[in-house]
Amino acid sequence: MHRRQGTRCLSAWIALLLLLAATPLSAQTRIRPGFNLFTVQQDAQVGAQSAAEIDRTVPMAPPGLPSAYVERIGQRLAAQAPGPDYTYRFRIANLSDVNAFALPGGYIYVHRGLVEHVHTEGELAGVIAHEIAHVSLRHPTSQASKAYVTRAGIGLLGSLLGDGRQSTVGGIMNAVGGVGLNALFLKYSRNAETQADIVGAQIMARAGYGPNEMANFFAYLQRQSSSRPSLFGRFLSDHPPPANRASRVRREAQLIGATRRATPVGDLTEVQHWLRRLPPAPTLAQVTGQ
Ligand SMILES: [Zn+2]
Repeated sequence: MHRRQGTRCLSAWIALLLLLAATPLSAQTRIRPGFNLFTVQQDAQVGAQSAAEIDRTVPMAPPGLPSAYVERIGQRLAAQAPGPDYTYRFRIANLSDVNAFALPGGYIYVHRGLVEHVHTEGELAGVIAHEIAHVSLRHPTSQASKAYVTRAGIGLLGSLLGDGRQSTVGGIMNAVGGVGLNALFLKYSRNAETQADIVGAQIMARAGYGPNEMANFFAYLQRQSSSRPSLFGRFLSDHPPPANRASRVRREAQLIGATRRATPVGDLTEVQHWLRRLPPAPTLAQVTGQ
């Protein structure tokens, strides 16, 4: 009797060990935010000023089904974002080219052209997750900080990090080109893009979306960029594509392993029909005169 119990106990242990061996330990890539002269509160402050500037320059899509859809996807993803506890806001810019951008402190803009050209909710979630990752890694103000230090010289760094820190935001932003649609918030280094892809993939997985859908959309953009550069080219120039961008996301998806899939927040086809009934939208280049 005792012997039988011991055997049963041993088999239970073996089963447990086999289960542990078959379950990969999470090996997700860890990314840390870079150098930054701003505080988290200042990110929100600069973001609010920049958003006001965007409102003056860029048309927004009329409120309705698509805005509510993007907001629901955005909030599902934002709930899984690492980093500071920003108030994330999501809006659809009434622009025809396929793109998205983010401002410090959690202001995310999705172009109408992006919503019209994705094939699945997961593809749209992939681009939104990438933008959330830029914000949560504080890339906008990190980039402004680096540009400022390069311009102002390293000698100023000591005083910036001292008590005067609160009063330097305006000075830094003026020195690096203001808070509007400037390249600092639209264009990042390849390294920052890769970081946003990786963290974006991780956010997607936690929110119940398959990270491979982000990779699928990058591959689609790559295919479209040569035949329709006016609609698709800008995304790739704003987000410089390392040759292995889609494959890096697929690799991260493997590291993350199997995850649960959430049900879609809405009906993408219905949203796309709604948008296609609107008058045609301009491109960002047409709006900014670039
Ligand atoms: Zn990006």
